[in-house]
Amino acid sequence: MQTFDTLRNDPNHSAVCTNLSPYINHGQISFQRLTLKVRALKTHPNGTAAFIEEGVVHRELSDNFVYYTPDGYDSLEGAADWARETLELHAQDEREHLYTWRELERGETHDDLWDAGQLQLVREGGLHGFMRMYWAKKILEWTISPSYALATAQYFNDRYAYDGNDPNGFVGVGWSIMGIHDMGWKERPIFGKIRYMNYVGCKRKFKIDSFVARYKGAKENAIKAERAATVERKSESDSLSGKKRKA
Ligand SMILES: Cc1cc2nc3c(=O)[nH]c(=O)nc-3n(C[C@H](O)[C@H](O)[C@H](O)COP(=O)(O)OP(=O)(O)OC[C@H]3O[C@@H](n4cnc5c(N)ncnc54)[C@H](O)[C@@H]3O)c2cc1C
Repeated sequence: MQTFDTLRNDPNHSAVCTNLSPYINHGQISFQRLTLKVRALKTHPNGTAAFIEEGVVHRELSDNFVYYTPDGYDSLEGAADWARETLELHAQDEREHLYTWRELERGETHDDLWDAGQLQLVREGGLHGFMRMYWAKKILEWTISPSYALATAQYFNDRYAYDGNDPNGFVGVGWSIMGIHDMGWKERPIFGKIRYMNYVGCKRKFKIDSFVARYKGAKENAIKAERAATVERKSESDSLSGKKRKA
């Protein structure tokens, strides 16, 4: 609990978070018991408060959302009006990067951090809590539509994470992609008013290179994808300038 309030969002400190979610979700441990035990220690009040906030407030908000939105918790139907409208308005925006479901599953994007996160999910059966947000938001940015992004992130989360198939998963993915329990932010392409996250922001928060180095293949995949994108861009611009010359 000592650093739970200060370091839990740093994926390089993976042991700061408890990694208890699979046991909590499958009923082996109750969060009520954890709360009582942790409070009884009477140490590290800030870390303890942050832990209880996650396990009681956020977890119960997820249960509540899924319970009271039985027909829409896993689709854009479940989004608030502002979020659905903004996503629909930007659904046709041009995507600089577009990946297939298979490329995403294999962690083969131009972004080494994202690829490392995906490889962590597939190889270890889980993804660090902070990385989960970045991971899901990039799926929105790099796939053909918000509903496709939602279904893809939910599928990967449930297929590969030991703690998947749980209200926290639907709400976590929903928070990232369709603004559940969030508010509108500055409007931008694709995301509309959905909160945005980017690589540079992650760089300010933690040492990306150390995280990426833990997942063999992530860096190489990103270099390969970037090279392929450069070749594609070049051939597009060549054919465009050829057309202009003919005209
Ligand atoms: C895209 C995305 C997908 C997610 N998918 C899942 C999932 O499938 N299953 C899952 O249990 N959680 C999910 N979460 C929420 C959160 O990331 C995990 O609960 C947390 O990372 C689990 O690790 P931990 O047990 O070490 O948590 P700790 O940081 O040690 O927290 C203790 C407990 O508090 C609860 N908790 C922590 N953060 C959250 C949160 N943001 N919302 C709700 N409860 C929380 C969990 O029960 C967790 O085990 C997701 C979040 C996002 C953004």
